Amino acid sequence: MYERKEIAPEQIEAQRQFCERIKDAISDRPHFALVDTYGCQQNESDSEILRGWLMDCGYGLTTDPAQADMIAINTCAVREHAEQRVFGNVGALTHNKAKNPDLIVAVGGCMTQQESVKTRLRDSFRVVDLVFGPHEVWRFPELLWQAMQRHGRRGNKGRVIAAEPSDGVVAESLPRQRDSGIKAWLSIMNGCDNFCTYCIVPHVRGRERSRRPADVLAEARQLAAAGYKDITLLGQNVNSYGKGLDDGVDFPDLLRAVNDIPGDFVVRFMTSHPKDATEKLFRTMAECGKIAPHIHLPAQSGSSRVLKAMNRHYDREKYLDTVAMARSYLPDLVLTTDIIVGFPGETEAEFEETLSLVEQVRYDAMFTFIYSPRTGTPAASMPDPVSRAEKQVWFDRLLESANRISAEKHAEYVGKTFRVLVDGETGDPAHNLSARTKGGRLVHLSGDRALIGQFTDAAITDSSTWALFGETV
Ligand code: SAM
Ligand code: SF4
Repeated sequence: MYERKEIAPEQIEAQRQFCERIKDAISDRPHFALVDTYGCQQNESDSEILRGWLMDCGYGLTTDPAQADMIAINTCAVREHAEQRVFGNVGALTHNKAKNPDLIVAVGGCMTQQESVKTRLRDSFRVVDLVFGPHEVWRFPELLWQAMQRHGRRGNKGRVIAAEPSDGVVAESLPRQRDSGIKAWLSIMNGCDNFCTYCIVPHVRGRERSRRPADVLAEARQLAAAGYKDITLLGQNVNSYGKGLDDGVDFPDLLRAVNDIPGDFVVRFMTSHPKDATEKLFRTMAECGKIAPHIHLPAQSGSSRVLKAMNRHYDREKYLDTVAMARSYLPDLVLTTDIIVGFPGETEAEFEETLSLVEQVRYDAMFTFIYSPRTGTPAASMPDPVSRAEKQVWFDRLLESANRISAEKHAEYVGKTFRVLVDGETGDPAHNLSARTKGGRLVHLSGDRALIGQFTDAAITDSSTWALFGETV
């Protein structure tokens, strides 16, 4: 049974005491920590908390593994390929530990919530000192302190494993080290209740629970006051925000409240499950000037039969109706999606339905994946007769379609001027700055680097599948 577990302020305060102990313990010389992140924005957001804790513990941050005294790897379990990369990279740290026996290696994130992974890390990766699940990020200093105490002891006595199934954790007032002073992730909820049959996320991140509106809004106000120009509200399905709370605030209400915070900034959000995307959401987006005209609306498939087998709770027609409704409120809507190719039992005719959906909707950009079986999910035990090679052929056809449509949609920007947020440098002397339109399209610009962090007008002169090119005006 799901239980919401709010972490009390005293428990967070206790973590700060562990930070002080660690700071004392490493005060002999400068110590450095590296946090390596795989997977989605939720993981990026958790890694910001890990970096915040590590800085509070007295570490400097580094991106050089050779300089690091502490390495945390924040893993993703959504597809097998990412898991294999993690095992390879964790194994390679054996060389770093041989050179620096004091190195502490921690592996966290969604992979560690799977029993098989936990066992493999424990039994086959002696280099690992600490394994911690996503539910344990709030008490990372305590776990790191324990790992430091046990460091150097032989076998499993020398390591800390903290990745039990634990639903419902909601923790506030955690430190956070954000990458840039321009763009910020703002996590509004955690976990997922949807149980799409292919997906491991609900099994590793637990049931859906929302942060309280007052806490989200306080953080949004701080970000606006600190000068952030681009704030992305994050959740596995933001459209069901507020479920289980008694505040009476749904996602459109929350969006409107963030929009009403004074300041010049853009508000984005992801991900929207199509089954919960309502007219109220689109109306709110149309009425609120700071909200980006962008929806990431994962279709997953264009076949109603496959969608049912995926447990998505909408069919092709309902999805198309939702897109039409969104575009009726937001004529300049930027629409992006996720598609899975080769779900177990998908036929070529059903794949063709996905292709035709893509041609009909004409997405601005797509994230396409070949189905990856995940142990413990219902789809992993469904018959899957189509070969990997055939799925690859389908995938390539889909990609060709996706790229052609993106290029055509980008070409429509040429000759027009857009307000963009300049967010960094490209390294390309011809177009030295990178920027985003309000709808989130990437723009390469030539202009003064003093514009980084500012909104400016950009005249679009050229385009490709991946980006727009322009001049500041
Ligand atoms: N919560 C979001 C949603 O509902 O769309 C997305 C979360 S998931 C981490 C991101 C994407 O990964 C999904 O939209 C899906 O396309 C893809 N994905 C999830 N499980 C997968 C699997 N087993 N094989 C291939 N792709 C998968
Ligand atoms: Fe996975 Fe579906 Fe939840 Fe998204 S909505 S995280 S795809 S189970």
